[in-house]
Amino acid sequence: MNGARLSRPQASETPEFLDEIRSGDRRALARAVTLIESTRPDHRAEAERLVEMLLPSTGGATRLGITGPPGAGKSTFIERFGLNGLKRGHKIAVLAVDPTSKRGGGAILGDKTRMAELSREPNVFIRPSPGAAASGGVARRTREAILLCEAAGFDTVIVETIGAGQSETTVAEMVDMFLLILPPAAGDELQGLKRGVIELADLVLINKADGELRDHANRSAADYANALRLVPASLKGWEVPVRAVSALTGAGVDAVWDDVARFRALLEGSGEWTRRRAAQSRAALLAEISDGLLAQFRAAPAVAARSADIEREVEEGRRTPAEGARELLRLFAPAEVS
Ligand code: GDP
Repeated sequence: MNGARLSRPQASETPEFLDEIRSGDRRALARAVTLIESTRPDHRAEAERLVEMLLPSTGGATRLGITGPPGAGKSTFIERFGLNGLKRGHKIAVLAVDPTSKRGGGAILGDKTRMAELSREPNVFIRPSPGAAASGGVARRTREAILLCEAAGFDTVIVETIGAGQSETTVAEMVDMFLLILPPAAGDELQGLKRGVIELADLVLINKADGELRDHANRSAADYANALRLVPASLKGWEVPVRAVSALTGAGVDAVWDDVARFRALLEGSGEWTRRRAAQSRAALLAEISDGLLAQFRAAPAVAARSADIEREVEEGRRTPAEGARELLRLFAPAEVS
């Protein structure tokens, strides 16, 4: 897989290449993902055309976000869950998002020990998070990678966040269902759990419900379920399930597929599926516009010539940020800003 990642993207717009992707050829898919990860302007333009051409074949997958603190058992869970899904006839893609990655070259999912069994399966595509060199544009890259996987016929796309903080929100905004995996914890540790993250969750799994930890995990699940009663429902008719599972023994893992199916049915039945996807696309459009504008703004010679000075004046309190911004915006687009 790493070999494919490093190969140079080329000839991506030929009908043959599009057919290869649509037929589920994983090498072609890997090459396409490499192309969208590239920051070279000519690659970027090519990537955008490629995604656009494939767009009619996208949209069909259930997009699942999975997050949780390091060590909670995310990759162990995804391996088990994925193997169960294959038995149910699913085709599964796993994408990793790690905006905080400082690892040069390699990536955490590239580690052979992660999801070793799952990665050998023909109906699975696992994509490690790119190294720090390509860390820009995490949201765009992930959005586009999801679309490519869908075009390649994967019906379930799992986006795993390995970074902390902001990445959870970023991922929650591009998936249909968001799963939170937590280790068993004592009641008082619940207080420390970032409220923001638990509010994003459509399903909470307390992992490691096996051996000595089983009772602990069950108690934790009950505590979390209580805490969640105070959180407003994100989808009418859906009470966020909290389940104790064991990724190690597999207990409770297969049933998560039923939760996913139930959640998707509820989304579709209520019209929320279409509404959410439309809202996500609109938000992505806005994000692209603001990223694009900011890049153009920074690159504008008139802005570049003054921005360091203005930044210093604002830092030192000699100017207000609003006024400093106004001057720079005027330099950027004199006719547009009064
Ligand atoms: P991640 O950092 O969230 O991806 O966590 P990993 O999947 O790498 O798991 C971290 C550690 O927890 C590993 O040593 C796993 O073997 C262990 N682990 C994962 N799931 C379970 C489980 O269900 N039960 C037990 N007892 N250990 C688990």
